[in-house]
Amino acid sequence: MKIKTHHKHLLDSAIILSFSTTMLLGCLGITEETEGVVEPEELVNLLTSSNKAVNGNPGLWGNDANTTVRFDTSSDIPVYFVSNGGGMVPDVIQESVNVMSNQLGVRFSKFVVLDEDLSQYRDNNYPNQNVGNYRFSKGAFQSKHGINGGIVFAIDTAFYSHQYSFSPSTMCANASHAPYDGGMAIDIDYNTQTYQSDTLLWVNLGNRQCSWDKAIVLHEMAHVLGLFQHFEYYGSWNTTSMAVLKLLYRNHPGTPFHSLSM
Ligand SMILES: [Zn+2]
Repeated sequence: MKIKTHHKHLLDSAIILSFSTTMLLGCLGITEETEGVVEPEELVNLLTSSNKAVNGNPGLWGNDANTTVRFDTSSDIPVYFVSNGGGMVPDVIQESVNVMSNQLGVRFSKFVVLDEDLSQYRDNNYPNQNVGNYRFSKGAFQSKHGINGGIVFAIDTAFYSHQYSFSPSTMCANASHAPYDGGMAIDIDYNTQTYQSDTLLWVNLGNRQCSWDKAIVLHEMAHVLGLFQHFEYYGSWNTTSMAVLKLLYRNHPGTPFHSLSM
């Protein structure tokens, strides 16, 4: 099959690729949807380039760099939504989880709503940015809510720092290990190459100065699910990115990249 590519935003894609090598696992300048139809072996190359740490980011402690690493899917992946005063999970978030579940053949739990005012972790000395004040503690958060690992969805907690950008729309959402945080570290079970069961990863949506949509939710979900690094077609969200993520979840965790089966 002939490789067919179509770039609507080649320049933006190049910018994203260049940023993917910085320390920050941010989503600077998420582009509009980019399309690409690629051959199976190219999907392997894309996954190999994405499902790994680059310059120590994300931190993957216990990872065998030559194999895939991802969530354990032998049981449901817990999903949480944090809201001050409780409330409903926004449809766009529930729909995104449904899409991932259907596409990947992975089971997520029913949403559990966690009642907490996350703004207590925001540094209000920088009102025009959206950065943390170092008061968030993963262990305290887990113990307060009686939870372990999984994926937390939160609104207006995306890391936006003038250290990286002065345009809030370019840092409108991110995946991390804490609210208002640009970093991600994951403890890996060396034997299974799955995330340790107490791994709690955050999908941060919005920074008070931008708007986000379902494609962005899917994009950030893909980061926590194992597409850590951006690649050419990983702009907003599209079928190519989904095909790469499906390849990751179709194969056992810990599969050597050179042995991935389509
Ligand atoms: Zn991203």
